Amino acid sequence: MNLRRLILVLTLCSALLPFANTFYAGYTVQRQQLIDTTQESNAAYARKLAQSTDDFLQSALQQLGYTAQLLAAHMGDEPMLTQEATRLRLQTKSFNSVTIYNPQAIVLATSPEALQIKGRMLDSAAVQESLRTRSTVISQAFMSAAGNLIVFISHPIFSPSGEYLGAIGGSIYLKQESMLNRLLGTHFYADGSYLYVVDKSKRIIYHPNPERVGQVITGNTVIDRVISGDSGYAAVVNSQGTAMLAGFAQVPSSGWGIVAQRPQQATLAPLDTLMRTMLYKTLPLTCVLLLVIWWGSRRIAQPLRQLANGAHTMDRADTAQTIQSVQSWYYEAQELKKAMLVGLGLLHQNMSQLRQDVSTDHLTGLGNRRHIDAALARFASQDIPFAVVAIDIDHFKHVNDTFGHGVGDMVLKQLAAQMRDVCRADDVPCRVGGEEFLLLLPKASLTDAAQVAERLRHLAEITELPVVGHITISVGVSHWPHCSPSQTTVFKQADDMLYAAKHAGRNQVQVYPS
Ligand code: GH3
Ligand code: MG
Ligand code: MG
Repeated sequence: MNLRRLILVLTLCSALLPFANTFYAGYTVQRQQLIDTTQESNAAYARKLAQSTDDFLQSALQQLGYTAQLLAAHMGDEPMLTQEATRLRLQTKSFNSVTIYNPQAIVLATSPEALQIKGRMLDSAAVQESLRTRSTVISQAFMSAAGNLIVFISHPIFSPSGEYLGAIGGSIYLKQESMLNRLLGTHFYADGSYLYVVDKSKRIIYHPNPERVGQVITGNTVIDRVISGDSGYAAVVNSQGTAMLAGFAQVPSSGWGIVAQRPQQATLAPLDTLMRTMLYKTLPLTCVLLLVIWWGSRRIAQPLRQLANGAHTMDRADTAQTIQSVQSWYYEAQELKKAMLVGLGLLHQNMSQLRQDVSTDHLTGLGNRRHIDAALARFASQDIPFAVVAIDIDHFKHVNDTFGHGVGDMVLKQLAAQMRDVCRADDVPCRVGGEEFLLLLPKASLTDAAQVAERLRHLAEITELPVVGHITISVGVSHWPHCSPSQTTVFKQADDMLYAAKHAGRNQVQVYPS
């Protein structure tokens, strides 16, 4: 995990999660609101239809009642009965057929006469009930004597003296065009909404699909509830397996149940469209936002990433330059960059100091053997010829013994200073042992080197030193490749020359070959 990804993840989370949350919350709230509204309007619609149906039944009963009153004095006049039955059927259009029967359930008159049941005895439960109760009856659905699925509504006929004379009944054919069908059928929508009516025995007495009229529905909670007198709304799955939102109410006078329902999907379709539109409209800005986040996280992380890469390669020579080029455009990166550059500077300074320390003689400040090795490697790699001048102080032990070590050290420093004086910038003066020194002279000839050696010897001899007075030095000189093709041999030759100078009485320069 790196900083850029961290920033990216964090910003994306903080940008997208609230958005998703708002979106989701908005969706659920509106969804519930839509469902509630639909449920309530379904319930209200079912109530209204239940009321209209009840009004229709009451008015049908009134019409029957009025005719019953008229007929009370004419029960023996069959043409009159038939005429009244026909008038009632045609004038009110409430019934598909009208039947007048006596207390023994024998049909006295009927309209239309084509039914051909005059003189027959009616044995339906509804007729039997009307005779038993001598009261008004609104039946459940049943198959009539003439073979029609009907609802039967009847009114008793009493003589003015109160004698029971029979009843007049109107039938509504459930599978044919009827007043009830017209009342209920004008009210369904194109979006899959519809209503249906069941009687108390759960038989469908109205359905927009005529084939379903007459079917008995079991296992439907809404139907169970509505015929038990309940009203309200519920979510159900219809016989086609479609999730529906149903409102229901009972028709008081008949106990029938009216169920108005709408597919849940039709209810929620506008919401889905709304949500999709919202998503499309927010998409461009969201994309821009994501791009800005991506770009921003890159911009923020880049300086730190470059500095981190620099930290990996602190030992490389170009790292300082790399770090210098980092665009640290904010405070933390700026400070880090500054601190790294300072640290890097110190590191390199310490390293070069260290490098110098390990190749420097402590007492005199001249190079040591390591320094010589480095110089030789350089000469060899660039094929630079050089002269070797080996120097040893004469009777130095005596100086130490006589004046002490401190004075001896002072003499060593003095000679080192004189070596520097006779050197050119490229020459390499070194201390290789107690009072033994070496001088490498690149690009100098053997003769040049001999002259430099002589100059140094002379300088040492004539210089008046405090306490000690005068010292002398012995010097051996050789040259590579003039004296030998081997560097090792050249040093040995210079050493030999130095000893030759000692043996020859000291305070002199011996040049190879002597
Ligand atoms: P010669 O003329 O043959 O070279 O005689 P010498 O006395 O110079 O030679 P020798 O090798 O006998 O003595 C070298 C002396 O240098 C011995 C030692 O006490 C002294 N010496 C070595 N290193 C140091 C140093 O760092 N400081 C001081 N003061 N003396 C040193
Ligand atoms: Mg010596
Ligand atoms: Mg000596």
